[in-house]
Amino acid sequence: MFEKRFRDRINLQQLEGLHRNPPVIEKREGRFVTIKGQKVLSFASNDYLGLGASHQLAAQVGKHFKAFGSSASSSRLVAGNYQTICRAEKTFADYFGYEDALFFSSGYQANLAILSTLFEKGDILIFDKHVHASCVKGITLSGAGLKGYRHNNLKHLEKRLEALNCKNRGVVTESLFSMDGDLLPIKPFGDLKKKHGFYGVVDEAHAFGVLGDKGRGIAKGVTDIALGTFGKALGLFGAFVLLPRGVKEYLMNFASPLIYTTSLPQAHALAAVAALELVEQADNARKIVKDVSESMGETLIREGFQVFGNAHIISVLMGDEKKAAQVSRDLLSLGILAFSARFPTVPLGKAILRLGMTALHREEDIKTFVNALKTVV
Ligand code: PMP
Repeated sequence: MFEKRFRDRINLQQLEGLHRNPPVIEKREGRFVTIKGQKVLSFASNDYLGLGASHQLAAQVGKHFKAFGSSASSSRLVAGNYQTICRAEKTFADYFGYEDALFFSSGYQANLAILSTLFEKGDILIFDKHVHASCVKGITLSGAGLKGYRHNNLKHLEKRLEALNCKNRGVVTESLFSMDGDLLPIKPFGDLKKKHGFYGVVDEAHAFGVLGDKGRGIAKGVTDIALGTFGKALGLFGAFVLLPRGVKEYLMNFASPLIYTTSLPQAHALAAVAALELVEQADNARKIVKDVSESMGETLIREGFQVFGNAHIISVLMGDEKKAAQVSRDLLSLGILAFSARFPTVPLGKAILRLGMTALHREEDIKTFVNALKTVV
């Protein structure tokens, strides 16, 4: 009965050309991956500074696992609250300029935990309609009243704030949007916060490490809470939430997705600190990311493509879902891996090719990509 339902849905997806069947990566070497024995140039990773491919970081990870063992073996609330983890959290809080930090096993889990725990029935959550699926899941589970505002449209946000004049209001947004690639206008956002008063939660998953002074992101001093992941510019996996100390205490006591899960291993927390040190030293990599991103955007526009994004995530509008999937497949046959984001990841009819530009990319990769795209479109 259940399996028939699953099969029917997959069959329908296949008929619509929307079935997801991610390629199996056999090997990764910097910006190249091997798929079915073919070496392919990848624009599909979030390893913006190249740390995920760095031997230096891998050596640190190995060293810490050797010294501290492979598992925390328990939840933070039982016997997993190691001094190494608490100290690493303090290091993150200090670096990013917040009172405290709390580590999670993934960014998805972190958004789920903070949004579903900090807000509840009787509160109002106003959110950018393009926030990440993990934010949507978190706010849905919170029980708060929900109102979306048009993507990055702060006039619409202000209208919502004027109409929903309740004391307990939270606003949820990203700082660099994961699919659109555009930036939250942070100064006007801060002005609105001062004028109307709300609790701000900003997901900086794609900004931390790359944007702002030494990768400190763009929302410091504006938002109450910020989220970052280790899985993008920091080259690891897991996540951190930057927050006031009292909010950390509250989450430690009330956030079910944190309480009932095994803590990150001590070694992983130390590896995150090692990654942060590399992030601090990565001015050169940040400059390369900026240069290749600008160059890719300009070249695509010159060639007549409709392009969004004003940082290192570039989305090229394809529109039709099937077309986007086909273009992605055709690019792969030409030796290029570019991810097509389709409904429900992006709105229906607004499918894109999503390019993650990294410090591993070279100017010649841009020519290779644009020529291939011109060939297949
Ligand atoms: N927030 C945003 C904006 C993301 O893009 C992602 C990952 N795609 C996450 C949160 C989840 O982070 P993680 O991969 O660490 O679970």
